[in-house]
Amino acid sequence: MAINVNSRFGFRFLGDLKSKIYHDLYNEKHDCKVNQIIISGNGVRFEPDNEEQAEKEGFSKCSNCMN
Ligand SMILES: [Zn+2]
Repeated sequence: MAINVNSRFGFRFLGDLKSKIYHDLYNEKHDCKVNQIIISGNGVRFEPDNEEQAEKEGFSKCSNCMN
């Protein structure tokens, strides 16, 4: 399940509904533009909060923070 978020706290993996890319907030890079994703309203977290769930929901790894 993907749940809309309005902050970056309390979870690890952030999905961008617009790009269908997900980010690891524990390894966030400037180019991830995490704040913009959240402010734009396109940010989601995953339940459960792991890579497998993000992939299952059709999101792809971010090349900046998930190498
Ligand atoms: Zn990223």
